[in-house]
Amino acid sequence: MGIETAIGSPAITTQLDKVVNWARKYSLWPMPFGTACCAIEYMSVVSSHYDLARFGAEVVRFSPRQSDLMLVMGTINTKMVPILKRIYNQMCEPKWVIAVGACACSGGLYNNYSVVQGIDQYIPVDVYVPGCPPTPEGIIHGVLKLWEKIEKESVKDWK
Ligand code: SF4
Repeated sequence: MGIETAIGSPAITTQLDKVVNWARKYSLWPMPFGTACCAIEYMSVVSSHYDLARFGAEVVRFSPRQSDLMLVMGTINTKMVPILKRIYNQMCEPKWVIAVGACACSGGLYNNYSVVQGIDQYIPVDVYVPGCPPTPEGIIHGVLKLWEKIEKESVKDWK
């Protein structure tokens, strides 16, 4: 005699965190913040050949208010930082950020005064995808790494 007997059959018992995290990881709504060549790679990721829909993250939105995953793809210069931060702040919690490519992760080739040497100086980054540009497989791998992070989150940590 367990809870399944008490609430009737068929019943599935689980934990709230598991259900919420399962739903979240399979329903990411990405917003591409594309500024340069890495964004071109992302186009193939959401196209039929690589088919990001297999991982539930194909509903691309260009409004931060409808997105929970920001993909920063390309060179970010210092003049763009206020815009990047403003758009990030307009996203509702919970939200995640993937830095796609060497430029977003660390400034890439451009080690000079006008280029941000890593977006994590200004907004929190959950996953870094290396490469110049990263392969479509690399970007998908970044999404799967984000899944691993989401699976470890707890509703108790909601802000
Ligand atoms: S990492 Fe390379 S491919 Fe990506 S935006 Fe920078 S220069 Fe372009």
